Amino acid sequence: MTTDGSAPEAIIRTENLTRVYRLRGGEIRAVNGVSLAIYPRQMTAIVGRSGSGKTTLLNLIAGLDEPTEGEVWIMGQALGAMDERARLALRRERLGFIFQSFGLLPLLTAAENVGVPLRMRGLPSGEREARVREALEWVGLSRRARHRPYELSGGEQQRVAIARALAAQPQIILADEPTGQLDSQTGGHILDLLRRLVNERGMTLVIVSHDPMVRAEADVVHELRDGKLVETRYKSA
Ligand code: ADP
Ligand code: MG
Repeated sequence: MTTDGSAPEAIIRTENLTRVYRLRGGEIRAVNGVSLAIYPRQMTAIVGRSGSGKTTLLNLIAGLDEPTEGEVWIMGQALGAMDERARLALRRERLGFIFQSFGLLPLLTAAENVGVPLRMRGLPSGEREARVREALEWVGLSRRARHRPYELSGGEQQRVAIARALAAQPQIILADEPTGQLDSQTGGHILDLLRRLVNERGMTLVIVSHDPMVRAEADVVHELRDGKLVETRYKSA
């Protein structure tokens, strides 16, 4: 509820979202009739065991995969009604991604990696440099700007990936197991940074994870089991 008592508007909505993989031996309902709403400026976790359909659901929300049934709306726009070009534009303008494996380009420096989405958007070089600098400073990596990924620890690489998402200033960041390759202390630091993206930068964060720390930290937790949404919990204020 908002302060005036009205229901807040969802930034992402799914309705009966279903993805069936057809295999020789039969079919797998990786995501099975999921209807949920995700609200702005919150940390929403989608949790569940390995194989429960988390990554498939995130890819559907990102428009990277097509549902067998159902629909996804991002900021009121139905993905199913958009062509691939429009979906690409939506991803580029509105969405940021953070992955378990960091997803950095190995031959580029930290600063160059952070600048990649800004280049894709065609931002002028002066603005790119300013945003890259600010984002690296925000994640505490100014002094690693010229390092390449192999010269950085796992936690530092993930901070570069967070800076890359931040620099592009998307409304929504989608993260798939962002702490999955990190020890629990480093994972905790990454989770703190992700929390700050929400609290300080006003971003909407959707984290897919089976990490209990993520489950404990999130404002809203949607739990998947065998592709179905079995429970939604709200953190008590
Ligand atoms: P999670 O991210 O929760 O571990 P996934 O979304 O990756 O789960 O997978 C959900 C189910 O769908 C699993 O049973 C998995 O084996 C199956 N699956 C995922 N991707 C494919 C694919 N490309 N082809 C066939 N089955 C798949
Ligand atoms: Mg997964």
